[in-house]
Amino acid sequence: MSQIAGAPDLEREEGAGAEAVLAQLDDEQRAAAQAVSGPVCILAGAGTGKTRTITHRIAYGVHTGVFVPEQVLAVTFTARAAGELRARLAGLGVGGVQARTFHAAAMRQLRYFAPRVLGGPMPGLIENKLRVVASAASRSRLSTDRTSLRDLASEIEWAKTTLATPDDYPARAQAAGREPPFEPAVVAQVYAGYESAKQRDGALDFEDLLLVTAFALEEHPDVARQVRAQYRHFVVDEYQDVNPLQQRLLDAWLGGRADVCVVGDPNQTIYSFTGADPDYLLGFADRYPDAEVVKLERDYRSTPQVVALANKLIGQAPPRKGLPGLRLLGQRPEGPAPRFFEHPDEPAEAAAVAQACRALIEAGTPAAEIAVLFRINAQSEVYENALSAAGVPYVLKGGERFFERPEVREAVLLLRGAAAGGSEPGALVPTVRDVLASTGWAEHRPPPGGAARDRWQSLAALVDLAVDLVAETPTLDLAGFVAHLAARADAQHAPTVQGVTLASMHAAKGLEWDAVFVVGLVDGVVPIAQSLSRPEAVEEERRLLYVAVTRAREQLTLSWSLARNPGGRRTRPRSRFLTGLVPESTPSAAPAPRKAKRAKVVLEGEAGELFERLRVWRSETAASASVPAYVVFTDATLQAIAESRPASLRELAALPGIGSRKLELYGEGVLATVGS
Ligand code: ATP
Ligand code: MG
Repeated sequence: MSQIAGAPDLEREEGAGAEAVLAQLDDEQRAAAQAVSGPVCILAGAGTGKTRTITHRIAYGVHTGVFVPEQVLAVTFTARAAGELRARLAGLGVGGVQARTFHAAAMRQLRYFAPRVLGGPMPGLIENKLRVVASAASRSRLSTDRTSLRDLASEIEWAKTTLATPDDYPARAQAAGREPPFEPAVVAQVYAGYESAKQRDGALDFEDLLLVTAFALEEHPDVARQVRAQYRHFVVDEYQDVNPLQQRLLDAWLGGRADVCVVGDPNQTIYSFTGADPDYLLGFADRYPDAEVVKLERDYRSTPQVVALANKLIGQAPPRKGLPGLRLLGQRPEGPAPRFFEHPDEPAEAAAVAQACRALIEAGTPAAEIAVLFRINAQSEVYENALSAAGVPYVLKGGERFFERPEVREAVLLLRGAAAGGSEPGALVPTVRDVLASTGWAEHRPPPGGAARDRWQSLAALVDLAVDLVAETPTLDLAGFVAHLAARADAQHAPTVQGVTLASMHAAKGLEWDAVFVVGLVDGVVPIAQSLSRPEAVEEERRLLYVAVTRAREQLTLSWSLARNPGGRRTRPRSRFLTGLVPESTPSAAPAPRKAKRAKVVLEGEAGELFERLRVWRSETAASASVPAYVVFTDATLQAIAESRPASLRELAALPGIGSRKLELYGEGVLATVGS
């Protein structure tokens, strides 16, 4: 097979390489890496080195000549993860191995075999289903909007990944507790219409790509022979997330062979709602009775303190059939105990997190080594705001920034239009509600469907923001609110390279940071309200929190707030998952008024005088633009200006909290105040 393996000189060198690869693993990891042929299953918890083990196993197989690199196919679920696999393999001196997502691997094969199995070149790919779903929906005489179309598309994707036909859909959807945007029979009709429209156009969607590739292998012996001769060794990372469609393709690749290594953590299954099924991982040893099953328990990522919390959290889950106990043993030196904070309201919680991020950065933790993790994307707004106000740069992962979301852009346009018609002071909140109601938004009725709920929550966040600002500035009117939104959108548009990561818990999977803040831990958010009626959905929420806490290497902070808005009723119970984890003496952030929580700036001498002059300039500037003072600059930014006394726009631009738009609006004013 391998030409290289026959060359005696190289063989010796390869032997040395193989030893070096094994030396980087612990005993159990090494056992898995050495099991290069035959079925292997690594069932292990977070941070135990699963990804490390599979890359080393491949390297070991290549170095010992058992694997020809080009015959290894490593698959995973995201392009980022596939890139990570390739980078780690390159680091181990292994080239030529295919490390791809299921989609990328299928695409490559189908493109090659299309003339043979489809009778022509590769069909066009539908990257976004919405247009085709819309035409199928209108053919079914459904009245839809962008949001219900997105939810219809999600239902079709779920059906296709679980291999449900339109006829199967209603019963399967009901059994799985789906929340379709229309009656299941109607969704089934749209699904059927979508499939025929696609066929008429001769196009394929992403699910078809996998399905057609599986068919090609299942039904064309010549194709199967060729693909199976090319790929002899298969590896799957994050296997707990495999769905029936991907499994079918994997089976087609294998064609009855057993040279497959799967790696996963059943406690990190967080995609059941899109069709993933951890039973493939848990049932692997039943499907392959001679499988080498390896358990890893040593956690190399997190301190024993973080590991203890993770163990306790997942230990409270009811036992699942076939689920082995996967306790983690922390390997790192001792670290600080995880911290828990209760706050009076969400803005106060966000302000405290932003201050803590700032303190960490000032003490030397790089911003990129800090993450703030939340359950739903709508929660990002209050953190985007608090971090901007504290002058802390941030990057948002796996979601659109609040002011870039289509529903928020549309709402801001409507509010601006309403403000142009004049506005009454003292009626801001009801006016904002009225304007949003004109888009169909109804305050007390979050609609069914994931996309619909996301949209509803973004708009609710705008109302919350109005409530929050009125608490600070009771005279704020609609024009002032619109100016505030514009200023904030500008501040948050500033592109950032190095920043604190703001991410949903889902988007954080597989990643790690030195310091992690897990926020918004109230019942109804974690676990999320719509999961509460189904125990298995609540358990998926617990696993999601487990994923979140196991991202922390050293510092872990968990927090919640009793009310949503300042001045609101403080009745929200903290997440049920924290029971038994929170020490009795949980420090609650003082329920003092929010103003008192802003750090008071004390500057001596000349800097102190300049700071006061800057404050006067800021009040005048804010008043003439009808915006709250901190929209112009926060105290932290004024402090930085007072301390560094910039003499030019360029020096000013180098300070935190000053983007190009602020420079343009206020730069000259600041320089004049500094120079006066
Ligand atoms: P997750 O479940 O979150 O995906 P994982 O099991 O894939 O985690 P890795 O990302 O491979 O874990 O490893 C976690 C961290 O521990 C990484 O920084 C990795 O380099 C380190 N690590 C793993 N095994 C060892 C080892 N034997 N010696 C030293 N460091 C290790
Ligand atoms: Mg991993």
